[in-house]
Amino acid sequence: MKKTFTTLALSLSLLIPISSFAKNNVVVVATGGTIAGAGASSTNSATYTAAKVPVDDLLNAVPQIQNLANVTGVQALQIASESITDKELLSIARQVNDLVKKPSVNGVVITHGTDTVEETAFFLSLVIKTDKPIVLVASMRPPSALSADGPLNLYSAVALAASDSAKGKGVMILMNDGIFAARDVTKSINIHTNAFTSQWGALGTLVEGKPYWFRNVAKRFNNASEFNIENIKGDALPLVQIVYGSTNMLPDAYLAYQKAGAKAIIHAGTGNGSVAKYIVPTLNQLQADGVQIIRSSRVPHGFVLRNAEQPDDKYGWVVAHDLNPQKAKILAALALTKTKDAKEIQRMFWEY
Ligand code: ASP
Repeated sequence: MKKTFTTLALSLSLLIPISSFAKNNVVVVATGGTIAGAGASSTNSATYTAAKVPVDDLLNAVPQIQNLANVTGVQALQIASESITDKELLSIARQVNDLVKKPSVNGVVITHGTDTVEETAFFLSLVIKTDKPIVLVASMRPPSALSADGPLNLYSAVALAASDSAKGKGVMILMNDGIFAARDVTKSINIHTNAFTSQWGALGTLVEGKPYWFRNVAKRFNNASEFNIENIKGDALPLVQIVYGSTNMLPDAYLAYQKAGAKAIIHAGTGNGSVAKYIVPTLNQLQADGVQIIRSSRVPHGFVLRNAEQPDDKYGWVVAHDLNPQKAKILAALALTKTKDAKEIQRMFWEY
């Protein structure tokens, strides 16, 4: 009997390398962006077409990822991320949700354009019930450029998604060795490879295929979220739009969005989400008409304080807390799938 087992184990080990038993399984979901872009020459680091290279070529360009995990690829989309609509966002979420539900998948990497990767990451952190690592990765230079940043970013993203220490950390963006939390990471430089920052700092850093952790997120995400992609039907979320604050504003943009069917408007205000005194009556009229006004700020750091600058309690407005306008837009759309109550929406903005 003992001999039979030994013979069986021996012949199995000849068929399957021992190392593949130990490795986690990571699926790379490709959606396009510069990381899959192509330029006319190797010196074109900023002039190129995004979303050209198929997922298999991305994976084959970095064979070292197979030492980190058993890596397979799925081409979910091939798009420049500025063109993502609710339809693509929901499609990515559903595909990733299906993957993380498979017991054979230990982690997911999503290759994405840098422009809106922060929105997709935040959305996934709110709607997918899992403790498996979901890592979004991008690049600032196309693979055809000198010193392309995509290959090392992809290597590090796979290392992160394959790491047992990343379990329960939620949805993250891996860029330029930094590990960032979906809720507070943002693209803050549009020309250099260190394009992503968080005002609260990175969660950690990834060096030579190993994550080093320094902080945790204090807010709700993934398994602790009250939103679930499985309860969202159709291809569109409740319509939310953003109006950018400045001096000498007109009320027309707010009114046009109301006419277009917006259910909430994010006011990306100056300073502490301030509203010009001649715009206040328009916003109060919209609120009375059932369009939720949410005060965010065009200032990248800090947070909007409730009832400072404007009497939010009196007006029934909501403040976006530290979420930037584009993140506030994502949370507002999800909130509106559940409630129209301003107090309840405000609770969500405190908690996520
Ligand atoms: N426009 C590109 C995109 O977001 C930029 C990039 O990926 O860096 O798809």
